[in-house]
Amino acid sequence: MTPKILIIDDDAVLRAIAMAKLAEEGFVVIEAEDSATGIQLVLDESPDLVLLDVVLPDTDGYQICQYLRSLPSAQHLPIIMLTGLDDTASIVQAYDHGATDFFSKPINWKLLSYRIRYILRASRTVEQLAHSETALANAQRLAHLGSWEWWPATNTTHRSDEYYRIYGMHRDSLASSMFAVLPQVHAEDQERVKTVLEAAMTKGQAYQHEFRILAPQTGLRVVHEQARIFRAEDGKVSYIEGITQDITELVDAQQRIRNLAYYDNLTGLANRQLFRELLLHELQRAQRQDKQCALLFIDLDRFKRINDTLGHDVGDMVLQIIGNRINTCIRSGDIAALHQSSSGKNEQVARLGGDEFTVVLTDIGQPEDAAQAARRILDSIALPIQIGTQEVIVSASIGIALGPRDGYDVESLLKNADLAMYSVKDKGRNNFHFFDHTMNETVLNKFALENDLRKAIEQNQLELYFQPKINPMTGVIVGAEVLLRWKHPHRGMISPVVFIPVAEESGFIIELGVWVLNRACEINRDWQNRGMPSVPLAINLSAANFRHPDLLPGIRKTLADLQLHPDFLVIELTEGVLMNDVEESIATLQALKDMGIYLSVDDFGTGYSSLNYLKRFPLDELKIDRSFVKDIITDTNDAAITAAIIGLAQNLKLSVVAEGVETTEQADFLLRRGCNTMQGFLFAKPMPQKEFEDLLLAGMDMGDMQAIFMVEC
Ligand code: C2E
Ligand code: CA
Ligand code: CA
Repeated sequence: MTPKILIIDDDAVLRAIAMAKLAEEGFVVIEAEDSATGIQLVLDESPDLVLLDVVLPDTDGYQICQYLRSLPSAQHLPIIMLTGLDDTASIVQAYDHGATDFFSKPINWKLLSYRIRYILRASRTVEQLAHSETALANAQRLAHLGSWEWWPATNTTHRSDEYYRIYGMHRDSLASSMFAVLPQVHAEDQERVKTVLEAAMTKGQAYQHEFRILAPQTGLRVVHEQARIFRAEDGKVSYIEGITQDITELVDAQQRIRNLAYYDNLTGLANRQLFRELLLHELQRAQRQDKQCALLFIDLDRFKRINDTLGHDVGDMVLQIIGNRINTCIRSGDIAALHQSSSGKNEQVARLGGDEFTVVLTDIGQPEDAAQAARRILDSIALPIQIGTQEVIVSASIGIALGPRDGYDVESLLKNADLAMYSVKDKGRNNFHFFDHTMNETVLNKFALENDLRKAIEQNQLELYFQPKINPMTGVIVGAEVLLRWKHPHRGMISPVVFIPVAEESGFIIELGVWVLNRACEINRDWQNRGMPSVPLAINLSAANFRHPDLLPGIRKTLADLQLHPDFLVIELTEGVLMNDVEESIATLQALKDMGIYLSVDDFGTGYSSLNYLKRFPLDELKIDRSFVKDIITDTNDAAITAAIIGLAQNLKLSVVAEGVETTEQADFLLRRGCNTMQGFLFAKPMPQKEFEDLLLAGMDMGDMQAIFMVEC
């Protein structure tokens, strides 16, 4: 860009020459004949340089010069004053009033244009410098980076504004000595900082370190300080320069990142990543020192049920409480050396995700130490958990693998502890097992089971069996319970006792439950279409299905599509399912009842059996659990309970069914107490559809049975 020169001079001839000469040199020239016009042009035209005559008609040039300097936009504007030849006094005055330079008349135009060029270049450099100084100060402030210089000989310093800001102190309130900040340094770091400063000053040791300071307003801060040493010819330390940076936020962020990367959000326990690192460390140490460590793999039993029935918030709370309990068990334990991190967290306990926890025990003497810890953990998990008005009871299965005996690396030790855990689940849960090598095969099947189950529906491997409910007095089949059977292509018949829990844990139970319900209704429709005698079919409904929002619309649609009367559908629910969220249960039960569906409480007597609640549930039937029926003849207690349940049912005007009736003695006892609907091997085992149809068609021949009871009653 062509530089723009403003000439302020009342001499019209001089101005005319200036215009011509300076234009020749490649400048754009504008002119003013008096001070007012000149000032206006400075403001309007932003010239790059001003040529200002000392003598003007209205005021003198010095005043204008001074005035221009006071304008923010003209602070750095180069001003050359045009003075009389060798007029020393006016030269001094010119500088005093802020002129950049002077030039004496008569003007050598060639020379002036060189001078102008030189001044313009210098002014640009100054401008850039000023700009970069501001930028630097801004950058330092943004980076919380203070800089300082230190002259050890006099122990004096010069520190930047940001340095004072970091310490939260005024320039005046901090002595010049580099050691003056020591009282501000955290007590635990003071000695170290002092030593480092002394070594720099006396021995010329460069340094780079971090320490904590207590700033009056901002409190505890972490700073990073770095120093460079300069020596004189004689080798003595002449000068030290350095930076002090507030890295508190950085340190916090690092801590947060570490927390995110290594700790579980929900429980605050170590996460999978930290667990792996720690276990690897322990395994290596155990191998080096010929010691033993133990890995406890803890999986909560049927945790999915808690989530499904009580909701995820409650599930999360339960996980937090359990995590805490495991942690406390290990902390208070004297079983093994504690491995605590600097953060004070106990990293021995980790949550791997979901309802899986691990504990790493180091330096265990014998396996019994690990067993003791497992027992302690199981006991503490088993304590009831109170959440609001709900009491939740949780149990866990623990698999134990010993390192390095059961695995040299994290992967295999974890896998084997997991296998041991699965074998606990297989054998009925709520216990612990040590890994042994025979487990590999049996438990691996378990994983396959879940996969196979998903294919079972499509591949027609599932079948409904029917077990009649009868009235022994009349021999009439009053209904049937639908029981699911799985004919596995390679393993043969698999019991629902095995695969229903697998389906429940994997969530597949939703689909499975819907399939059973629809299938039962379809079969019933088919019987009616074929003009067969038809009976109500009872299906077992899992918690997940009962709580599912599609339950009511789904049943409504199935019944409507098939035009099946609701009298033909019975739903069996266990007490456990009903007692989780009582209010919601009541609403769902009421809706089912309003649809005309018959509702039965399964396995009655094994759960809560709370009369208060029972009265509030809109139910139709209680099914006495087969465990009571089994021993009614031999165990007076069971006999008393069974009699009480029958009495309770009559009181509440509910029907009562006894299941698992295997002997005539049992049937007789039940009949005498007033229970006249029964289900059990005495009458019939669960049977395939075809067999049950034959039975329905024949009408159950209960003649003999009837005779017995008629006589005995
Ligand atoms: P449950 O609902 O208590 O079913 C009754 C179980 O008792 C059935 O076992 C039946 O075969 C057995 N049983 C019947 N009479 C006798 C008897 O006289 N003596 C003895 N010892 N047992 C008898 P099953 O068929 O093996 O079913 C076991 C459990 O599996 C059922 O217990 C039920 O909880 C579950 N289940 C079966 N089918 C389904 C289903 O479709 N959905 C759901 N959610 N669960 C099902
Ligand atoms: Ca049942
Ligand atoms: Ca039952």
